Amino acid sequence: MGRLTGKTALVTGASRGIGRAIAVRLAAEGALVAVHYGTHRDAAEEVVAAVEKDGGRAFAVRAELGVPGDVHELFLGLEQGLKERTGSTDLNILVNNAGRMGGVPVEKMTPEEFDRLFAVNAKAPFFLIQRALANLTAGGRIINISSGLTRFANPDEIAYAMTKGAVEQLALHFAKVLAPRGITINSVAPGITRNGNPLFDVPEAVEQMARLSAFNRVGEPEDIADVVAFLASDDSRWVTGAFLDATGGTLLG
Ligand code: NDP
Repeated sequence: MGRLTGKTALVTGASRGIGRAIAVRLAAEGALVAVHYGTHRDAAEEVVAAVEKDGGRAFAVRAELGVPGDVHELFLGLEQGLKERTGSTDLNILVNNAGRMGGVPVEKMTPEEFDRLFAVNAKAPFFLIQRALANLTAGGRIINISSGLTRFANPDEIAYAMTKGAVEQLALHFAKVLAPRGITINSVAPGITRNGNPLFDVPEAVEQMARLSAFNRVGEPEDIADVVAFLASDDSRWVTGAFLDATGGTLLG
């Protein structure tokens, strides 16, 4: 029996990258996982199949975040999926992972792209939490994926880093509100982490990125998933409102 047996989890942006690894890890611990995706249905279905192959339970839920009606659409699919499989719409774990990358030089940033970044990265997590409060049970867990860029300067990603600064406020301020219900909320900040970006196929680029970590390697999605699994478990019951540096020592300077 896994640490999360009997629990339900929603992982946003779980069709690939870090979210995929989180979904797989939580399912391996026994949770029934809603694998949220925006556009890549095949990828999400592949994650569900991988989970099921290993004896776990998962289902895919689609919703484009950052557009009107996004949270409503997501929860329609989520609640239907949960009800069919558990008989209730209780949610134990919410992982706000979906994010839009924003490597745009200052002079090229447009107001439209700035708004889109905030809509997906900051506004959606806020309203997902607001909506999830009706489903989250005592002992619930909320984990928001931030970025080391809230503490590590990169002028090409100012707007993106601003969205992640906003995300970190969620843990600080919601922690006190949710504690009486036994719900914790924390931020996890990855450093450079391997995802589907073609940059990770270029050895020289990987070598350069690896130098930012004290361990001289780039992060793997599983490095982040393991931290999230801890926060999702009962072992983290005394941790709330916290910022967890999962940058492999990048922030040590
Ligand atoms: P990926 O780009 O690999 O995957 C992004 C995921 O989010 C996909 O599942 C995608 O779904 C979903 N998504 C993106 N935009 C939307 C949207 N508008 N609506 C719905 N779903 C959406 O991301 P990573 O794994 O690299 O990053 C995951 C999180 O970690 C993000 O919040 C990111 O900011 C953060 N992070 C990542 C770092 C890194 O180096 N990789 C470093 C620091 C933080 P689909 O493809 O189906 O549309």
